[in-house]
Amino acid sequence: MNCPSCGAPLRLAGGLTSLRCDYCRCVVPLAPDDEGMRYLDEVAELLCPVCAVPLWNATLANAPVHACKKCRGLLVAMGAFEGLVEGVRAQNPGGAMPAAGDDNELSRKLACPRCHRPMETHFYYGGGHVVMEDCERCEVNWLDSGAIKRIARAPQSESARESV
Ligand SMILES: [Zn+2]
Ligand SMILES: [Zn+2]
Ligand SMILES: [Zn+2]
Repeated sequence: MNCPSCGAPLRLAGGLTSLRCDYCRCVVPLAPDDEGMRYLDEVAELLCPVCAVPLWNATLANAPVHACKKCRGLLVAMGAFEGLVEGVRAQNPGGAMPAAGDDNELSRKLACPRCHRPMETHFYYGGGHVVMEDCERCEVNWLDSGAIKRIARAPQSESARESV
């Protein structure tokens, strides 16, 4: 995204909720969508493994992710995953549990957006009945729309914490 007044490239400001122009010092707030996702810019070389459209640099609950505007799925680095779950949990303290995904998802095969190898499909270890994909090689997780909220809302057990 570029600065609306001078056209210089904007960079993420601290807190990951706004963009700043280093030249004219203007700040462009990023409005979250109804899922709390803030989209920054399109990453042409990173395609959604489900819809094959470019993913976007985005932030969710102050964690950096790559998100698909079409299916609302997201790619998150394994190192940022725990912070993302905690952030989403903090932002969604109440309300209904989002609907569970389909068990058929377990048999689907997605290719990693980064290395294009098949991703590992499994249930999230920490509960919430969530199917997720991961690529050990690229250290990324793929989550469908709503999955992160289910994980955040799942009852926390000691074993779940240890396995994250
Ligand atoms: Zn500017
Ligand atoms: Zn998609
Ligand atoms: Zn990969």
